Amino acid sequence: MKYIGIVKEPDFEKRICFLPKEISAAINQLNLKVFIEKGIGENLGISDSKFEKAGAIVQNRSEILERSDFILSINEPQNFNIGEAEKTIIGYFNMLFYPQRTEKYLNKSISVFSLDLLPRTTLAQSMDVLSSMASLAGYKAVLKATNYYNSSFPMFTTAAGTLSPAKVLVLGAGVAGLQAIATAKRLGAIVEAFDVRKSSEEEVKSLGAKFIEVEGYKEGKNAGGYAVEQSKEYLAKQKELIHQHISKANIVISTANIPGKKAPVLIDSKALEAMQPASVIIDLAAEQGGNCIATQNGKIINHNSVTIIGDSFLSREIPQAASQLLSSNYFNFLKHLVNSNKKEDPILSGCQVIYNGKITHPQLLTKFE
Ligand code: NAD
Repeated sequence: MKYIGIVKEPDFEKRICFLPKEISAAINQLNLKVFIEKGIGENLGISDSKFEKAGAIVQNRSEILERSDFILSINEPQNFNIGEAEKTIIGYFNMLFYPQRTEKYLNKSISVFSLDLLPRTTLAQSMDVLSSMASLAGYKAVLKATNYYNSSFPMFTTAAGTLSPAKVLVLGAGVAGLQAIATAKRLGAIVEAFDVRKSSEEEVKSLGAKFIEVEGYKEGKNAGGYAVEQSKEYLAKQKELIHQHISKANIVISTANIPGKKAPVLIDSKALEAMQPASVIIDLAAEQGGNCIATQNGKIINHNSVTIIGDSFLSREIPQAASQLLSSNYFNFLKHLVNSNKKEDPILSGCQVIYNGKITHPQLLTKFE
């Protein structure tokens, strides 16, 4: 009999990665046992007894970490005494960007899967934590902007006069950006969006937003649909165009990322100086350095009356919804892992970072060369 262990996340993390519904499914469908740490669901108002009803066993933290075969976690487990026993950790650790996070697992009997590295394929869609969290972050980014913006999103026609609708510019029309566009449109804003990928144009237009196009984009051959770094000429043209559009925007939601790399700076000092007074930037790429030159990760700052919010984890502000999606993603991955009998499984090899104490992920290996 194999055990899954789930311990409490660090204090800043309000989401959890496995809920009673999936615990019960893991026990009944995958024939696993589940340990949970006391109070695991307190941030979401879910009592231990609800977890116990689903079949989980409340256990103390060190026992869980020592005895579990699979440890499920969003952030890396803190104060983790790795010990000698073989185990598999499944998380969401952004190790391509933080390669030093692998060090503590090297030369131990530990394997690590980091779900942010799952291939973006149809088969892996139900496990795709990045898409789940990006959707919620895009939605929440717009709601957050409404709180910091000092005027209305929709147009108001009143007896006292007319208020103009807010102008929203979305930089990066991937999963988060499209959700931001949809949310801003629902609130009545005028929305423009920009992405280097021409393929996003149709999606942007179908949501009723205007697509800003820069000519000359080079697709990456093996980039799996992701954006790749561009030439200096392209970036210069792009900056110029963003500069023109940003100077009219009241709200900018920026989401542009290149996996494993520093985020592109799309809002430079010149663009920032050109912005409307009291406008708002929500920079969802803050963790990877930010799309705005002045972004400070995890901080809300004021720059010449422009509010800049650097936050890549806005899904943490809707922890119930985020936990529901994460729990389903983690369960689907676990099911795939437990049932996989292929020698070469692209889903597993795509997100396996460490096998038995050795780094296996090719992109991560290059970071240590
Ligand atoms: P992401 O978070 O890596 O990047 C966000 C967006 O920023 C992307 O659309 C990217 O093109 C854009 N970007 C990067 N550099 C930029 C720049 N210099 N200027 C402007 N925009 C820039 O990406 P994501 O949202 O996770 O999704 C990326 C792609 O993967 C999309 O094509 C998406 O549809 C696809 N995807 C596929 C699946 C699937 O098939 N299972 C699941 C999720 C996403």
